[in-house]
Amino acid sequence: MTWILLLLVPLGIVLLGYLRAPLLVCTAAAAAWLVAASLQFDWPAAVNVAVALLAGVPALLLNVTALRRAVISKPLLNVYRNILPPMSDTERIALEAGTVWWEGELFRGHPDWTVLHAYPEPTLSAEEQAFLDNEVEQLCRLSDDWTISHELKDLPPEAWQYIKDAGFLGLIIPKQYGGKQFSAWAHSQIVTKLSTRCSASAVTVMVPNSLGPAELLLHYGTDAQKDHYLPRLAKGLEIPCFALTSPQAGSDAASIPDFGIVCRGEYQGREVLGMRVTWDKRYITLGPVATLLGLAFRLYDPDHLLGDTEDIGITCALIPTDHPGVEIGRRHFPLNAVFQNGPNWGKDVFMPLDWIIGGPAMAGQGWRMLMECLAAGRSISLPASNTGMAKLTARTVGGYSRVRSQFKTAIGRFEGIQEPLARIGGHLYMMDAARRMTAGAIDLGEKPSVVSAIVKYHITERARVVVNDGMDILGGKGICLGPSNFLGRAYQQIPIGITVEGANILTRSLIIFGQGAIRCHPYVLREMRAALADDTPAALAEFDDALFSHIGYTASNAIRALVTGLTGSHWVGVPSGVAPETRRYYQQLTRFSTAFAFISDAAMLTMGGDLKRKEKLSARLGDILSQMYLCSATLKRYEADGRQAADAPLMHWAMWDAMFHAQTAFEGVISNFPNRAIAILLRRLIFPLGRPYVVPSDRLGGEVAKLLIEPSATRDRLTAGMYIPDDEHDPVGVIEHALNATIAAESIEARVRAAQKKGLLQARGAGLMQAAFDAGLIDDAEFALIRRRDTLRDRVVRVDDFPQDFGVDAASAPPAESHNVTAIAA
Ligand SMILES: Cc1cc2nc3c(=O)[nH]c(=O)nc-3n(C[C@H](O)[C@H](O)[C@H](O)COP(=O)(O)OP(=O)(O)OC[C@H]3O[C@@H](n4cnc5c(N)ncnc54)[C@H](O)[C@@H]3O)c2cc1C
Repeated sequence: MTWILLLLVPLGIVLLGYLRAPLLVCTAAAAAWLVAASLQFDWPAAVNVAVALLAGVPALLLNVTALRRAVISKPLLNVYRNILPPMSDTERIALEAGTVWWEGELFRGHPDWTVLHAYPEPTLSAEEQAFLDNEVEQLCRLSDDWTISHELKDLPPEAWQYIKDAGFLGLIIPKQYGGKQFSAWAHSQIVTKLSTRCSASAVTVMVPNSLGPAELLLHYGTDAQKDHYLPRLAKGLEIPCFALTSPQAGSDAASIPDFGIVCRGEYQGREVLGMRVTWDKRYITLGPVATLLGLAFRLYDPDHLLGDTEDIGITCALIPTDHPGVEIGRRHFPLNAVFQNGPNWGKDVFMPLDWIIGGPAMAGQGWRMLMECLAAGRSISLPASNTGMAKLTARTVGGYSRVRSQFKTAIGRFEGIQEPLARIGGHLYMMDAARRMTAGAIDLGEKPSVVSAIVKYHITERARVVVNDGMDILGGKGICLGPSNFLGRAYQQIPIGITVEGANILTRSLIIFGQGAIRCHPYVLREMRAALADDTPAALAEFDDALFSHIGYTASNAIRALVTGLTGSHWVGVPSGVAPETRRYYQQLTRFSTAFAFISDAAMLTMGGDLKRKEKLSARLGDILSQMYLCSATLKRYEADGRQAADAPLMHWAMWDAMFHAQTAFEGVISNFPNRAIAILLRRLIFPLGRPYVVPSDRLGGEVAKLLIEPSATRDRLTAGMYIPDDEHDPVGVIEHALNATIAAESIEARVRAAQKKGLLQARGAGLMQAAFDAGLIDDAEFALIRRRDTLRDRVVRVDDFPQDFGVDAASAPPAESHNVTAIAA
């Protein structure tokens, strides 16, 4: 009995903690144990009284709400108020913008996988599918990347016209204004496809449909603004751009020095209330050709013409670019990408207050508007364009690896090449899964700010790996630019996606966990709000409830982390009906989620506001959340695709790779945790039996690589939605033909080589096949096939050459003086 009683202590703690038992149940269990212990050990009366006092007083304090609030929560609330780091309005708006979606489940330690599988898969309407099959195909045909990026340095006039006429600039504009009113998924598919062909067309289409004038007008515009601009934008009568970034304020966009002063002035012959705006912007996509400039600046009202407030705040306005004083600069040249991009500026440009998006009532609301709308564009544009580049890489480099032989072997069969091929396939499978799931979230009406940062960062980083690997596999063929090079431009332009829409280092270090921790945590935001609220009983009640729920949640997560670590999470429930080969992944992810919830709390509790400055730790915590999100999307995709057994290696590779990286991120946090005692505790609780996750096996990598180097339904699913011209003279199209011919020729070639080995054929090198034909070893059709294979293969491996001066003398002219930035700032 004594042993049972003693054993009940750890067992009870683990059981109650694991089941997240309420405080009252834990108290009752502790009381029952004490009574049993008193009877069993026959404690004397004095001991019984002492135990009753020692255990009873805390039990009362904890369980009687009024007492707990007065004695525990109130002093703690005061401490919390003192240590809570100050938060500016811009920080608060950024933190609170958007919605919490699936990442919230992952953050809270116990994801409900049925919720994940209940999210509907995004689908295309017949109209959207027809647009992809017709208009998007046509735009791809009009977008020859080499001609555009090297010769024209712009889209050809007919492509520009087609973009406008076919409605590409109005994808997100409702039909009532003449737009397409397409879903986020359709938008994503369109950008993905265009990105497999030409970055200039993709960016030209994606930017007006992302965060910019149309999106801002739709959400905040006055009726008059919508009625005037939306039909013109939808028809391509206006080319929009949006200018936020200035030379002084890049990532820290809220600190833009651009300003407007409310004043009276003359507009169209009448004196009106307006503002004089001075700005200096750079990097503005479509800026050099824009007719409508969306502009962000800080508005001041020193003469109180609008009210009491002098510093009104960041404001967004729409300005026709032919308005006097608007200066549109020349072009930047972002890594040989030729989508239009450049600076613009103006000094003391007078414009009516009506040009503020949403009218004067929305003056000062610009930052909130931008933050609220950021999630949609960030969930679509870069994920789509970078997945497009990865699809292009997988399809072409996979095919090339079979067509190109060295040492009498297709290079794709070398283990050394299989390794990067596996990364290309595995990453792409996961990237596409995350792109799809996230676009689906937008179509469900979500504005998932944390998820949009996750997919923006991780899809662009994976695209960088994929394209880099592709370049390594191609060797010299990838390096020599020219019309035959299908990957060089993508390689050059990868850093653009890394930098725009929230530069990646900043996004990883500051945003993903920084915003996620506060938005997704079930209690932290409630605690903060209570601490920031006035000192009322309601605030105390809110704080008390959040705090004690938080303590129970943290303790429970610690116990769950230990139990799932010790048991390899084999006991964890799995949603019914999922593919058997994925069951363990759900269990592993639940383990990660629990450990993550615990380590996040440990980090927030011990570092508090300092965690904001501990960017390396914050980044690694964000990595864990991100890998869990990417894994969720991958599992969802596997189900949605019909659990294709042939695709399973891609899924398995992606899952193991992501789990290994999540484990590395955990290890990075624990190893660098400032409080070493807590670090030891974290390691013991999270990895009680060591680190179990390993990199995807070589065997698995080999299976993935094989999928990329031969035609199959899996290869088609992996690269679905890309533009593949059926043209033997197109650098991408020829690979498809050459791949088929190479595979068809392989058995013939093997037969000939066997005969050669036996000494039946004396010829070597180029003459071997002719000799085999002359000897009757291969027939007419087989010889023709070999010759066709040779022709196509030669075309695939060919690189371009140029005249001595490359024929581009004009491009080497020195740049003219750029506009004087200091003068404007002054
Ligand atoms: C091709 C192109 C197109 C663009 N299009 C537009 C457009 O249409 N409209 C528009 O308004 N802007 C546009 N931009 C601007 C783009 O959004 C900015 O480049 C981006 O915000 C980064 O600013 P920056 O380049 O000045 O880098 P900086 O802000 O100077 O950052 C430099 C580095 O520091 C890192 N960093 C900054 N702060 C932190 C931090 N707190 N912690 C850790 N790391 C940090 C960044 O991640 C980055 O690696 C475009 C830029 C380019 C290159």
